[in-house]
Amino acid sequence: MKIAIVGSGPAGLMASTRLALSNQANQLDIHLFEKRPGLGRKLLIAGSSGLNISHEHSLQDFSNHYEGWDNDFWKNLLNDFGPKDWINFIEKKLGMETFLGTSQRYFVREMKASNLLKQWTRFLEEHHVTIHANHELSNFNTEGEQISLQFNHDSNLNFECDRAAFFLGGASWEKEEPSWVRLFHSKNFSMVPFEASNVGYEIDWNEKFLKETEGKPLKKIELHTRRGSKMGEMVITQYGIEGTPVYFCGTSGPAELDLKPDLSTDQILEKLNRVKENLSPMRRVKHQLGLCEAAENLLFHHAPPESKTDLNKMVNAIKHFPIYLKSPRPLLESISSKGGLSLTEVSKAFEMAKFKGVFCGGEMLDWDAPTGGFLIQACVSQGASVAKSILASL
Ligand SMILES: Cc1cc2nc3c(=O)[nH]c(=O)nc-3n(C[C@H](O)[C@H](O)[C@H](O)COP(=O)(O)OP(=O)(O)OC[C@H]3O[C@@H](n4cnc5c(N)ncnc54)[C@H](O)[C@@H]3O)c2cc1C
Repeated sequence: MKIAIVGSGPAGLMASTRLALSNQANQLDIHLFEKRPGLGRKLLIAGSSGLNISHEHSLQDFSNHYEGWDNDFWKNLLNDFGPKDWINFIEKKLGMETFLGTSQRYFVREMKASNLLKQWTRFLEEHHVTIHANHELSNFNTEGEQISLQFNHDSNLNFECDRAAFFLGGASWEKEEPSWVRLFHSKNFSMVPFEASNVGYEIDWNEKFLKETEGKPLKKIELHTRRGSKMGEMVITQYGIEGTPVYFCGTSGPAELDLKPDLSTDQILEKLNRVKENLSPMRRVKHQLGLCEAAENLLFHHAPPESKTDLNKMVNAIKHFPIYLKSPRPLLESISSKGGLSLTEVSKAFEMAKFKGVFCGGEMLDWDAPTGGFLIQACVSQGASVAKSILASL
């Protein structure tokens, strides 16, 4: 049985792995194709800022973080191959150390992805997976049980197989739309336009604020938007704001910052009133609250003018600082993308309705999740699930 896996991100690598681990009797001939000269480019990019591989949560809480399929689908997926299985694989099969950070996120001890990728490639080679770099899928068709793939628009690079699975990735961090999108349009697949997700937002900052604050962190704040709330740290940029809270719940429109989430309105007021001298609300804040420099600058340059003289209004500004998130930054800067192949095109076993024996998974499908390890976890869980579906179909 010949099986082709196309795309060497975490989803494709995990599909190849699970197939290879089930191939005790060598009945499967597994081939992994990648259009680039090297495997796992986006995994390497993700590792450049600390490779966050998963998150510690109950299955219910974990599955609540996903959009796309319903909750039960995500729960089943994670039940079959969840955070523990993924961490176990990295530690036991690849020999890499992981750790759980204080933010409940799992990381690879080395923080980078290069060694993980090296060990993973070695593991696949040792388990007889044949790797073909520089092979870009340019067409595919099925005839009866037989699947034919074409690479690099070259008829000499045709590959006939019994099952195929595509894990071609999304449109984040890409200069142009991925080439597979054109191929899928030409085959009349239903596609959802790509949108940036887990991305910074544009905000109109006042020039003086920016001069003093660009590149500085807003520490221990809480962002509230229509999509939810998230504590964390964000960095002020020339065009707006970046960081986990805005990646998690950013959406265009009005939003609020709580600049002192660990204290209630009354507690802040009580602290500010402790000052006996006749100081302005802003001076009291500087003396009493220990806000970070960026938060103080924000109050100084952007708080409603009344708060400069009225202590209650200053406290209100600290707890409900109004900001306006204009628009997300472009796909080229985004950590993930929404959109891609519509979920209506694949069954719950990830098999294409239009092409029997051909499966799809990972970020090329129209689902989304916040950062925090939820993305990579979903990709490896889907890769594992596709492999299981392939094995069940043989
Ligand atoms: C800056 C950045 C930081 C990130 N940090 C994190 C993080 O800390 N934690 C986290 O969980 N997630 C993170 N992510 C997201 C994570 O990297 C992705 O969700 C994940 O890589 C998607 O996996 P995938 O296998 O679906 O696709 P990809 O990793 O995109 O892999 C798809 C592969 O398919 C190949 N391909 C495409 N078209 C073809 C074709 N026609 N023929 C052959 N091959 C093809 C591509 O070259 C690519 O190698 C980050 C992403 C970015 C950009």
